[in-house]
Amino acid sequence: MRRTLLFLAAFALAACQTLVAEAPKASTDCIFCKIVAGTAPSRKVYEDPYVLAFWDIRPRAKVHLLVIPKQHVASLKELDELPMETRAALLSACVKVARDQGIVDQGFRIIANSGKDAGQSVFHLHFHVVGGEKLREDAITRDPAKQP
Ligand code: 5GP
Ligand code: ZN
Repeated sequence: MRRTLLFLAAFALAACQTLVAEAPKASTDCIFCKIVAGTAPSRKVYEDPYVLAFWDIRPRAKVHLLVIPKQHVASLKELDELPMETRAALLSACVKVARDQGIVDQGFRIIANSGKDAGQSVFHLHFHVVGGEKLREDAITRDPAKQP
């Protein structure tokens, strides 16, 4: 009996440790973590247990969405820190939101700037999903306020 209780206690402890280890890490000064937590606003288009998708605050195409993991990682450099389910959910969500916006047949682009040289400005991994119009090569780096 004592042995069974000890075994159960050890099992419960191991389960708790697993839960703690898998709890999403949030960065308190990260704007996208705040959007995930609901403490910053966003125009959400899709959510599941792993990812969130919302409109870019400064759209540079007719459709310009961002797809992010709920768990904070800074960039693609840390992709391996995400559980496999989240990695799969990210790509599926990019295609799903593009389909929901009606842009898959016309064509769309998925972009992930990773690091300084790529011009990453928000250091919470995100995929830009852009489309809804003929995209230029510099689709998301171009300032729409400047011509042409
Ligand atoms: P990056 O330059 O890192 O590839 O892309 C960051 C993107 O996040 C930019 O397109 C920028 O407009 C967008 N962004 C920055 N802050 C916010 C925000 O508070 N809300 C939303 N929805 N998008 C943001
Ligand atoms: Zn974050």
